[in-house]
Amino acid sequence: MVLTFLFFSGIAIGSFLNVLIDRLPQERSINGRSVCDNCHHQLAWYDLLPLVSFILLKGKCRYCNNKIPSVLPFVEILTGVIFVSIWLSIEKTPVEKIIYLGIMACLIVIFFADAKYKIIPDSIQVALLIFSFLLFYVGNADLRSLPNQILSGFFVMLPILLIYLATKGRGMGFGDVKFSFIIGLLLGTISGFLALYIAFVIGAVIGVILILAKKKKLKNTIAFGPFLVLGLGIMLVWGEKVIEWARKIYGL
Ligand SMILES: [Zn+2]
Repeated sequence: MVLTFLFFSGIAIGSFLNVLIDRLPQERSINGRSVCDNCHHQLAWYDLLPLVSFILLKGKCRYCNNKIPSVLPFVEILTGVIFVSIWLSIEKTPVEKIIYLGIMACLIVIFFADAKYKIIPDSIQVALLIFSFLLFYVGNADLRSLPNQILSGFFVMLPILLIYLATKGRGMGFGDVKFSFIIGLLLGTISGFLALYIAFVIGAVIGVILILAKKKKLKNTIAFGPFLVLGLGIMLVWGEKVIEWARKIYGL
């Protein structure tokens, strides 16, 4: 019952995340009705039912018959699936679990906004920061450890900041720098660095695959935010296991 509710809330929220993914990077207002990307016809409420409209309209715009990008229903289903799996796999209090869902929603927006527009919107970083402080506050209300968390944020931010400065912003954007601060704040220093490590490894593998598949040339850049999202997400959910493996492999 709870899981069914979570899945459908996830789909509904995912449909809102689609709006954020498309509008925040372009600094468009998130109020106002959605229009078709192709014919700019204003969409009615029955065109905007998450998933249902996509299926009924067979993935095409009602007005111009243009194909609706399948990333839209994908984000909706993904949000539903992530909500259910987070609820099942994390051993936390219900309040903490809800904060985790908020964090995951932010991560979905960062992933797709950065992949599409190469921008990590500031507003979503602020939302993520608020969820991080909430989690900290609910999890252990010991405010004396807050300075440590903030220090962890600076430590984890440092390598990304150095890359940003060394490449004059071509390797990383300043959005990645700010995002890595939140990663350190959320995870602490060790898990934060492991999240960066995971991001670099996945990024390198995907980069090589894209170059071999001739989708990208060496001089092209790919947004780094999606890989940071994967690193952070993996450490948030499976952090303890990853640390265990790291200890075994590297003998820490
Ligand atoms: Zn249309």
